[in-house]
Amino acid sequence: MILNISSLDTFYGETQALFDVSLGVAPNEVVALLGPNGAGKTTTLRSILGLTKPRRGRVTFDGADVTDWPTHEIAKAGIGWVPDDRRLCPTLTVARNLAIAIKRTRFRAWSIKETCAIFSPLEYLMDREAENLSGGEMQMVAIARALIGSPGLVLFDEPSQGLAPKIVQDVLETIRQLKAEGIAVLIVEQNAETALSVADRAYILDLGRVVWSGEAAALRDDPALRRRLLGA
Ligand code: ATP
Repeated sequence: MILNISSLDTFYGETQALFDVSLGVAPNEVVALLGPNGAGKTTTLRSILGLTKPRRGRVTFDGADVTDWPTHEIAKAGIGWVPDDRRLCPTLTVARNLAIAIKRTRFRAWSIKETCAIFSPLEYLMDREAENLSGGEMQMVAIARALIGSPGLVLFDEPSQGLAPKIVQDVLETIRQLKAEGIAVLIVEQNAETALSVADRAYILDLGRVVWSGEAAALRDDPALRRRLLGA
């Protein structure tokens, strides 16, 4: 596993959001983390990134125990993040948003030119301020920004949120491309169908606990199981 989280308990103040959560992502694997509103999906990502430190449990990435590392060190170790609200610098151009995200890790480095080859529309957007982009364009820039950071693993938080179906398909295609480039992916999604269409394996969270894990195909191909676990 390139990412292993074991027995995480994470709190906001005295409120416990995660209970004994364990999951793993293998190199070159796409894993979906599914579950209803408030299940603890975003909190799991925040715990991995060190944004909300778990009170108990460990996070190991690429063989190192990163549980107590500050977020910027975790990013430098090779974990990229595509947040649900994109978080681009609005007044900077796309080129500048990408340039400030360049990092060297032990994983493959991506130049802006190579990144543009994967996200072809980017080339034409380079001089635009991020605040003037459409939602779909912003999402593409957010994914490109994660790639520019030379990740071994990219975490996606609700990548389909607020996007038109055609753009969602483009985002799923870029996730397949990341996988083809040997990058591991963990996707948090409320929309199970979207995530399951690219995932190899899946975990389902409910009320802060893992209630199911297995092959994505098992959920994809079994509507009754999906309904029972996800209500969808
Ligand atoms: P959603 O899809 O609605 O974002 P989620 O599965 O990502 O749901 P989380 O956002 O991780 O769920 O929330 C898990 C629990 O933690 C919820 O009960 C939520 O109310 C609580 N929570 C999340 N963020 C905070 C916070 N900043 N302060 C206090 N409680 C929080």
